[in-house]
Amino acid sequence: MRTSNSETEYALLKRITPGGVSSPVRAFKPYPIVMESGRGCRITDIDGNTYIDLCMAYGPLILGHSDPRVAKAVRDQTKKGSVFGCPSHPETQLLERITSAVPSAAMCRLQNSGTEATMHAIRTARGFTGKNGIVKLNGGFHGAHNTVLVAAGSGSAENMPSSLGVPPEDVKNTYLVEYNDAGQFESLLDKNEDIAGIIMEPVMGNVGVVTPEKGYLQDMRRITKEHGAVLIFDEVITGFRLGPKSAQGRYGVTPDMTTMGKIIGGGYPAGAFMGREDIMSMVAPQGPVYVAGTFSGNPISAAAGLETITLMSERGRYDSLEKTTQGLVASMRDRLEDSGVRGCINSVASMFSVFFGVDEVRNGAEAQKIDRAMFGKMFEFMLRRGIYMAPGAMEVSFLSTAHDEEACNKISECFGDFLGKVKSE
Ligand SMILES: *Cc1c(COP(=O)(O)O)cnc(C)c1O
Repeated sequence: MRTSNSETEYALLKRITPGGVSSPVRAFKPYPIVMESGRGCRITDIDGNTYIDLCMAYGPLILGHSDPRVAKAVRDQTKKGSVFGCPSHPETQLLERITSAVPSAAMCRLQNSGTEATMHAIRTARGFTGKNGIVKLNGGFHGAHNTVLVAAGSGSAENMPSSLGVPPEDVKNTYLVEYNDAGQFESLLDKNEDIAGIIMEPVMGNVGVVTPEKGYLQDMRRITKEHGAVLIFDEVITGFRLGPKSAQGRYGVTPDMTTMGKIIGGGYPAGAFMGREDIMSMVAPQGPVYVAGTFSGNPISAAAGLETITLMSERGRYDSLEKTTQGLVASMRDRLEDSGVRGCINSVASMFSVFFGVDEVRNGAEAQKIDRAMFGKMFEFMLRRGIYMAPGAMEVSFLSTAHDEEACNKISECFGDFLGKVKSE
C-alpha cells in the first residue's frame, strides 16, 4: 500500500517530538492522520480525507472550525498588534463579558491555558485560607501541574504522584474523593483541619461525561461553606458550553472560584480564573499571591473569545445546539438499545460519551470499568467511515453550532452499523 502523506509526516514527527505529538491524547492507532484544515464541523487531513469532527479540539470550538466572524475578529486584531505587555481593549471587553455573565465571577484574571488557570486558582485558594490541603475528584482533570497529578494509593496507602518527576511532597496535600458522593467529602473535611478547598468539574468531562445527581452540587456548596473551604468549579470544559452562565448557572450553584479555558479563547490559547472579590483581591499586584504571564490576557485570544461568547449569546443559540445534540443522542440510544450491545450514553447540553460494557457511569471509579477495547474498535470503525472522535475511551464528543442534520444522521447511522457489526461477530 502507498504510504500516505500523514504516515510520512508522522514518522518525521516521531523523530523530533516525543511520541510524535504535542499532547499525549493525540497519539492513536491504527494509523496517523495529520490535519490540514477545518471548516464548520468537518476537518481535512493532508491526504485530502475529510472527517466529521466530534473531537472538536477537545472543547474550544463551540462555533465549529474557522468560523468566519471569529476569523475576522482575529484578523482585525492582528492588524493592530498581537501583544503589548500592557492592558488592551479586547482584554477589558472579555473581562467585562465574563464577569457579567458568570455568577461566581466578581473579578477575573486571564491566563493562557486551563492548566495555568487551575494552578493559580489553587494557589489563590491556599493563600486566601492559609491552608495547604486541596481535594480533587477521582478522575477529575485539571491540567498538567504538580498538585493535581495524583493517583490514589492502594488500600490505606497515601496518594502517589501520577507522573514521574512530581515530588511526592507536591501531592502530599492533595486528597481524592468520588464524584456524586458528598458524604465522603464531608467526612474528609470533618477530620482534616488543613483543607483549603476542593477543585472539581461540576460535570465531569475527562472520564467521559458524568453528570451531577440531584442535590449533589448543592450539598458540595453547603459543606464547603460550613467548613470555610473554597469551592472551585473547574469549568474549563463547561464554561460557556453548558449555557450563557456556564454549568454554575445551569445548575444554580455558585462556587467561590471558577476556572475556565477552551471556549473563552474561541479556538486560541486562553484560560482564566475568577471568583469572589475578597478571594481574587489576594492576587498580585493587589495582594500577596503571585501570578504572572507574558501572554496573559493576550489580545488575539481575547478578541476570538469575545467574538465567540458574543455570538453564542444570540437568542436561541444554546437551545438549538442542545436540541441538535439531544436529537442525535436519542437516536444513538435507540440504536444501542435495539442492538442489545451492553452500554450507555451519558450526555448534557452539547456533550456526550458512549460507554460500553456498563449500564451506568456515575463517578470516576465506575468509568474505570468500561470496555475500552470496544471503544477502540468503534473509534477505528468511525474513523474509516469518515468520523473523527476523540481516540480515548474516556473522552467527550462535542457538538458545535456547525454540526448540521446531515452530519448527525451520518454519525447515528455509522454508530448503528458499528453495533450491527459487533452483534454479527
Ligand atoms: C482541558 C482541561 C484543562 C486544561 O486546560 P489546558 O488549556 O489544556 O491547559 C483543565 N481542566 C479541565 C476540566 C479540562 O478539561
